[in-house]
Amino acid sequence: MDVVTSEPLRGAPVAKAIKADVRAAIAKAAEQGLAAPHLVNVIAGRSAPSLAYLDAIDRTAAKLGVRTSRVELPGDASEAQIVAAIEQAGSSSDVHGLMVQFPLPAGVSRAAVVDAVPLAKDVDGLSAAALGQVFAGRRMHVGPATAAAVVELLMSDERCMPRGKHVVIAGRSLVVGRPLAAMLSAGGGVDADATVTLCHRHTPDLAAHTRIADIVVIATGVRGLLKPEMVKTGATVIDVGIHEVTRADGSVGLVGDVDPAVGEVAGLLTPVPGGVGPVTNAVLMRHVTAAAYPGAVAEAW
Ligand code: NAD
Repeated sequence: MDVVTSEPLRGAPVAKAIKADVRAAIAKAAEQGLAAPHLVNVIAGRSAPSLAYLDAIDRTAAKLGVRTSRVELPGDASEAQIVAAIEQAGSSSDVHGLMVQFPLPAGVSRAAVVDAVPLAKDVDGLSAAALGQVFAGRRMHVGPATAAAVVELLMSDERCMPRGKHVVIAGRSLVVGRPLAAMLSAGGGVDADATVTLCHRHTPDLAAHTRIADIVVIATGVRGLLKPEMVKTGATVIDVGIHEVTRADGSVGLVGDVDPAVGEVAGLLTPVPGGVGPVTNAVLMRHVTAAAYPGAVAEAW
């Protein structure tokens, strides 16, 4: 195996460009006297990772002039209470984006909750209606933000443009793998035009697929799953995984689904942290802004 040192495909420049577009749209709307975009998050209970995620969203939003607020429900809230809170926020003309945090209380139907979010405000793209738009090839700013972030990263660099490439995705969740397969295989002008293989936990030999891929996207939630012998020399690797680790010195860090040794084989490799994550937050801000001011930001998933 040739030893190459991969180049990081960082999220920061991609996120910066998206945020600049958002900032400009908000400034123009403010000149016209329009209210700032408003994102509401519904959360039941106090899951620490969810609260940390919401704090990160709030910080990004504050820097861009996007308003955020939270509807906080008890950890034992019923499905009817959660759906009612979503419907109340969803019916307000002052709310442009609406998200629900997971996990939901035991016994609450995920489908009932995500489908209560009105399509035009579904900035996290979890409802069946939003996924339907993605699978129909309609770019209306309601695609799941993480999947859309992977597309943005790939389209940001000539060396990993997906058109004509073979992309292997590991992980078929409705927040990453499946919508991403639809986005990357879409055709028609501005689209990705890739050949896509979608793998999951029942794929008998994941390596047989990843080894022949030009681009590997790994979103399995299995730390270090992608090993160097599973990657073609020079391939692009997008690491969606996030795992918290405690280092020997007691500090806490983040790692992904990619074994660090893949860096000796891959051409471009997204770091964790600093790869997909920052772009996901920027995409979310673009979605809220597009929901507030239709047509004001670049067309995207
Ligand atoms: P999930 O648990 O819903 O789905 C995991 C998927 O991986 C499943 O489809 C499963 O079939 C597949 N899988 C599991 N083991 C596999 C194996 N050995 N081979 C092939 N496929 C396998 O997870 P998710 O919500 O899609 O998240 C995946 C990872 O991405 C997690 O680490 C999560 O923390 C991270 N994530 C990151 C972001 C971000 O913005 N960076 C956003 C969402 C999720």
